[in-house]
Amino acid sequence: MALRPIATIGNPVLRKKAKPVSKNKIRTMEMRTLIKDMQETMQAAKGIGLSAPQISVLKQVVVIKIPHEIEPHSVWTKPSDYILINPRITDIAHDTTSFWEECLSVPHLKGFVTRPKHITVEYLDQEANEYSLKLENFMATVFQHEIDHLNGKLYIDYIDGLPYIN
Ligand code: ZN
Repeated sequence: MALRPIATIGNPVLRKKAKPVSKNKIRTMEMRTLIKDMQETMQAAKGIGLSAPQISVLKQVVVIKIPHEIEPHSVWTKPSDYILINPRITDIAHDTTSFWEECLSVPHLKGFVTRPKHITVEYLDQEANEYSLKLENFMATVFQHEIDHLNGKLYIDYIDGLPYIN
């Protein structure tokens, strides 16, 4: 196990833009170690998503693991365990939805955030395979929250006033 420290609000690394990973650098030991450490760090912190900037690595890498009980009514049929490298939101619908959001980098707080309800995300996985996924509702929110981290954005940027105590 290699847990990495999670940067919290006030740390300037959370406001920086992460760089894309070159395609020929994806299948390297360095990336494998980074991804494994991110998954272990996320799991230990009981998170459902973690981006590399949150462990002070400015690379476009995200890990997501959503327990089934969080979205039991989803039409989702694929496993909810994702590794996203260089993710891009390529399509956004006009309809919106709102969820309570939390962030491992903004501890003890939560905020009610309105975001697009349907998105399409393109990304590479750890083997450099290309994917295009259509997402809706909570899954769409989780992916947007994590991809925001790669652009130096936090969910608190979308809410008026202060977040609530969780
Ligand atoms: Zn977050």
